[in-house]
Amino acid sequence: MQNKSIWLDNYKDNNVKELNQDLTLDVLIIGGGITGISTLYNLRKSKLKIALVEKDLIGHSTTGHTTGKINYLQELIYYDLEKKYNLDVAKLYLESQLIAIKQIINIIKKEKIDCNLEKVASYVYTDKLEDIDKLKREKEILESFNIKVKEHQNINLPLKSLYTISVNDTYVFHPIKYLKSLKDICFHNNKEIYEKTNIISIKKENDYYICNTAKYKIKTKKIILACHYPSFLIPYLFPIKTNIEKSYITASLSNHLKDTYITSSLPTTSIRFHQDKKSYLIYLSTSSKICNNLDEKSNFSKVIKETQKLNLKPTYLWKNDDILTVDKLPYIGYIKNDDNTLLIGTGYNTWGMTNGTLASLILSDLINKKSNKYANLCSPLRVSLTDTGSILSNMFCNMKGFIQNKIVKNKNWYPECIKIENGIAIYNDGKNIYKVYNKCPHMGCSLIFNEVDKTWDCPCHASRFNLEGKCIKGPSNYDISCNKEFKYNNFTIK
Ligand SMILES: Cc1cc2nc3c(=O)[nH]c(=O)nc-3n(C[C@H](O)[C@H](O)[C@H](O)COP(=O)(O)OP(=O)(O)OC[C@H]3O[C@@H](n4cnc5c(N)ncnc54)[C@H](O)[C@@H]3O)c2cc1C
Repeated sequence: MQNKSIWLDNYKDNNVKELNQDLTLDVLIIGGGITGISTLYNLRKSKLKIALVEKDLIGHSTTGHTTGKINYLQELIYYDLEKKYNLDVAKLYLESQLIAIKQIINIIKKEKIDCNLEKVASYVYTDKLEDIDKLKREKEILESFNIKVKEHQNINLPLKSLYTISVNDTYVFHPIKYLKSLKDICFHNNKEIYEKTNIISIKKENDYYICNTAKYKIKTKKIILACHYPSFLIPYLFPIKTNIEKSYITASLSNHLKDTYITSSLPTTSIRFHQDKKSYLIYLSTSSKICNNLDEKSNFSKVIKETQKLNLKPTYLWKNDDILTVDKLPYIGYIKNDDNTLLIGTGYNTWGMTNGTLASLILSDLINKKSNKYANLCSPLRVSLTDTGSILSNMFCNMKGFIQNKIVKNKNWYPECIKIENGIAIYNDGKNIYKVYNKCPHMGCSLIFNEVDKTWDCPCHASRFNLEGKCIKGPSNYDISCNKEFKYNNFTIK
């Protein structure tokens, strides 16, 4: 079994360019996941001087660890939006998802992208009595918008279901083949993409932002933050308007079905099939808030055991996390009133293939000074008093992540081979000794050892570091290696 995402196995790219000089731009896109690359693709013909920077390789963060469903049947989203807002909002969100799906399919067809696209039926099922009526309402809402929905008592897999609904016109694909093709198309259109290029601080000077990497400066009139976690944005309260959910995933050799499945509510089970040279079943489970279930070994064991119950043997095993918003709508657009220079796309509530694509449509329209029908729906400036409970719960989770492993000594988080001395974590694998600061440079949370991946993971905002202390996932912008001075992120735009 390999501890890596199926999408990133055998990844090759001979065209990786790092930033090697200062730049002056009209627009800088920070982040090369589905949001950043799709936005650059939409702007590929623009006369503006635009570049994208990615601190790792294209798609190697959240997008490269997804399950790759392109789907508008998203748990109980329409029921939830009707309850929180009204039917009009539910309808507008549905429309936005259908537009995003159409955009992905049109791009794949127009650009002849080979990314294992398949049209599939998608099922949402529940084994909870209390969810049956909600799922029935979800079906009614979709039908009132002229979507054909079927109901079922059972599903095609040995999983307990009391009630199930399904739709036909949804898709699955290989997200990294898709992103890599978009990257190549952007290159051919002379758009600049710099990988292995980490923005560590941003400063506003008159009409420009100065974005600093360790060596170079990028001077830009506008910034699109496509970096998943709303880094650099403490003053705008994003960290408490969002929460992080983590999940564990396996891919196992199996027969192929043209179906996807997901439970209506937590704890999530999500299944899809992927056919390439071989056929795989991709199984996701154990979703929880980032501050809960800190014993990573047991989280990974749980998904492996659940996969084995389907008589499958995992070939790939990985984890991923996504940003959830308090009202289940994404945050896409301008961050400040009366300021069209700072834009963001985040908060996709685990549906980033559609919402990242929607973000690319809205953000490129805003850059091109065009109106977009879904801009208000997704505006990051929206405020709702009814969100207070969720905001408090997010604050509690952040605090819990920060405090609990500072005071609780749980041996599963720190196995025998690890010693923590004066804030330094020492890991001895029998051959080598690795020393890192046991503190996340983002906000100072103590790190949990992930025995399965051999990484240090932050229980507050999901940064990850390898044994040498190199940051392999944000929001941290710095490493934790002991041979360097410990630095806190300069995460606020000054
Ligand atoms: C377990 C799981 C399963 C999922 N399955 C699905 C699914 O089936 N269908 C679906 O629609 N959605 C799914 N999602 C959601 C989806 O994967 C995400 O919403 C989406 O990939 C987010 O894309 P992004 O571009 O915003 O972020 P990312 O892909 O994380 O891209 C952001 C990029 O910014 C870079 N970056 C960050 N900071 C900096 C910096 N300072 N300088 C330079 N670069 C920087 C990062 O390295 C990263 O590559 C799933 C999520 C999870 C957690």
